[in-house]
Amino acid sequence: MYSSVVEYIRQLFESADDFIPLHSPIFRGNEKKYLIECIDSSFVSSVGKFVEQLEELVAHYTNSCKAVACVNGTNALHLALTLVGVKSGDEVVMQPLSFIATANAIAYCGAHPLFIDVDKETMGLSPYKLQSWLIENAEKKNNICYNKTTGRVIRACVPMHTFGHPMLIEDLVNVCNEWGIELVEDAAESLGSFYKEKHTGTFGKIGVISFNGNKTITTGGGGMLLFQDEKLAARAKHLSTQAKVPHKWEFVHDDIGYNYRMPNINAALGCAQMECLPEFIKNKRELAFAYRSYFNKIGITFFDEPVNCKSNFWLNVVLLNNRQERDEFLEYTNANGVMTRPIWQLMNRLSMFKDAQCGDLTNSEWFEERVVNIPSSVRIAPIQLN
Ligand SMILES: *Cc1c(COP(=O)(O)O)cnc(C)c1O
Repeated sequence: MYSSVVEYIRQLFESADDFIPLHSPIFRGNEKKYLIECIDSSFVSSVGKFVEQLEELVAHYTNSCKAVACVNGTNALHLALTLVGVKSGDEVVMQPLSFIATANAIAYCGAHPLFIDVDKETMGLSPYKLQSWLIENAEKKNNICYNKTTGRVIRACVPMHTFGHPMLIEDLVNVCNEWGIELVEDAAESLGSFYKEKHTGTFGKIGVISFNGNKTITTGGGGMLLFQDEKLAARAKHLSTQAKVPHKWEFVHDDIGYNYRMPNINAALGCAQMECLPEFIKNKRELAFAYRSYFNKIGITFFDEPVNCKSNFWLNVVLLNNRQERDEFLEYTNANGVMTRPIWQLMNRLSMFKDAQCGDLTNSEWFEERVVNIPSSVRIAPIQLN
């Protein structure tokens, strides 16, 4: 059966024998034009018109009040957590089913991750599981949430929209508000994904997008912070540029800042990619629907977008029946030039986070055994749907 899967994927990507990657970037817009323009201007570093232009494009697309560009998504997450007040010794809620960057950003703050399970329907942090964990294990004093076991402050929560599928963000907003927990959305994978027609990353205080080479659009390396508050955005820009106080020549810095600003040369690439984003999303959704009908027909579960959501289908997911079938699928496809990958090992299993406190993780463990990502790049020539 797996040979027909390989054949079908080859047909979709119109490639009889070339290696088919999981997700490769595609440059068929104004990328070269803007890069040359950027080089000719000599402004290739952290000052230049493309950075502001990219911020405006992303703010407009996501309907955010402001966007602030960073060197990558990981340090954008670090900055976001710092901005909402995460301090050394705090705890931050996250799902164990995520890319390492989320947990690392928490660790950079000197804070501890607290692992809460995902929902079966979304693969994202479960608001209900968080609520019941908090009722059992937390107390609120002066609008600050404390972990009754460790005595530490549960300062923030970082849900992740896994593979571009929006999690139940509205319900999570309510839980976080009730408990006095700050909400930062890891929307690194979900540019172009909407929950009830509102862009992911715009529900929490800050949202974080990644433009790494394997994401839906790329700036080479890059990230973006989304804000619904001008003041906080201005603070982010200040901290990301070494907290330098504007002056004609004096070097005065008024805080511990970071060198996290996106270079203009990366932003030039990003501006061209943003112009293609609507077309990319359309193309990726067509691919997902072709996969959906194919896998339904052959009896393999395709993970579909959650209800009331429009997903960018960054990486498509099939669910095998168990770890053994998953491994067989991975073996066969990778041996035949079709790149597929399992989901990340759960964060609570990694040596750095093995002592972190966890809620019940049944669903995360269930997904860990079964998820396989299949090739999901934007295709050059859209295929005929059957
Ligand atoms: C890609 C990604 C990031 C950020 O990654 P960078 O490579 O630093 O841009 C953060 N969180 C998740 C879940 C991601 O997939």
